[in-house]
Amino acid sequence: MFCPGCGAEYDPGVTICAECQVELVEEEPDLEPHFQDTVCVFESTDQSQIALAESLLQGAEIPYVVQNAQSQGLLGALVRDSMFARIEVKPELADMATELLADLEEGIPSADIDEYYDEAEDEAEEKGEDE
Ligand SMILES: [Zn+2]
Repeated sequence: MFCPGCGAEYDPGVTICAECQVELVEEEPDLEPHFQDTVCVFESTDQSQIALAESLLQGAEIPYVVQNAQSQGLLGALVRDSMFARIEVKPELADMATELLADLEEGIPSADIDEYYDEAEDEAEEKGEDE
């Protein structure tokens, strides 16, 4: 039996994951909300960018997890007052996700955002990918 939430394996007869309090499934789930091995494909302190990235991934049906680093103090005072989040996907989907999110960027000053989008569109047309 497997937990669809954390992917933990349980002995037959166990029906509820002790960690997640969710019902176990018989087969190992393909799309676990929490992946064992993930690749960060996008990170931002801008909630609208994160939301946009999520909607792109959802549209492409790429499973992902969002890690919020705010409470972990990883970035110290720099982003203390903002939500820092990173989006991670399975390694085999990283290329697809990176390409999908190539138009998004982290840490764009709002004053420069119009200019940035103009440049980004030009670059996207010419290169077709990030870096
Ligand atoms: Zn679980």
